[in-house]
Amino acid sequence: MKVTVIGGGTMGNGIAHVFAQNGNDVNLVDVKQDFLDRAMATIEKNLGRLVKKEKISDDEAKATLGRLTPVTDLGAAADSDLVVEAVFESFEVKQDIFTKLDGICSADTVLASNTSSISLTKIGGVTKRADKVIGMHFMNPVPMMKLVEIICGQATSADTLAKTTQWATDLGKVPVTVQDYPGFIANRLLMPMINEAAYCLMEGVAEREAIDTVMKLGMAHPMGPLTLADFIGLDICLDIMEVLYEGFGDSKYRPCPLLRRMVDAGFLGRKSGKGFYDYD
Ligand code: NAD
Repeated sequence: MKVTVIGGGTMGNGIAHVFAQNGNDVNLVDVKQDFLDRAMATIEKNLGRLVKKEKISDDEAKATLGRLTPVTDLGAAADSDLVVEAVFESFEVKQDIFTKLDGICSADTVLASNTSSISLTKIGGVTKRADKVIGMHFMNPVPMMKLVEIICGQATSADTLAKTTQWATDLGKVPVTVQDYPGFIANRLLMPMINEAAYCLMEGVAEREAIDTVMKLGMAHPMGPLTLADFIGLDICLDIMEVLYEGFGDSKYRPCPLLRRMVDAGFLGRKSGKGFYDYD
């Protein structure tokens, strides 16, 4: 089938990679050739790793690259069966893209978003095909992680859900159907845990290492919540807590003041060299 992935960043290049590796023709769209070059280099590097680990052959890696077409023109999406949008987490940016896609794509094209927290009902509402708009929430790093949350907006049709579930399964992923409520399942469970870990640190309940050790050794989590928050980015964690707080209007989702203060200070985690831990 024909797939277009919009945005070649962290998630987009991984999504394009897995669709291409599974035999689909994939357009990868970004705003600048530089970004596309970087995305293609990342995909090539990740395919090389799979070849090294003998998960795929050299020929498969080459064939995968051959199925990828990097382009700066959104018009390439016109005859796609599926478009997966993975641009910045901003409703305004996504609104602009979905409005354009609605005009560009054939009437049958399913329009999916990889959004972590924006309502699919709201995204669907900017198109005239809300029945064909759905969430495909892949996890990072996409080629490694099995889960895809499939999010149904208020108007998403059963046919769109069935097709999208099948496409995710065809990628070797495990799709889970989720209704369109703030944070879906993954972030609704994960972010309050991270937020509460930040409260524990702020209140002096324990040192950062102790908080992480409890969840690692006591709950068999691969990494502690503060380490994980640094990995995700504290700004992203704060944004998602705001979405939960606003979306449910419930004080149990109030963002931790320490988390907010760290974001204000520019301590965003690994990407800024400093978060709950220091990185050089
Ligand atoms: P990113 O910043 O790494 O990449 C975004 C890409 O989109 C950039 O390459 C940018 O140039 C491109 N872009 C921006 N506007 C565009 C436009 N108009 N047309 C084409 N390309 C455009 O972001 P990311 O981390 O890959 O996140 C993308 C989406 O995936 C967000 O909605 C995010 O919430 C979601 N998500 C992220 C993660 C994660 O761990 N990073 C996990 C799950 C979901």
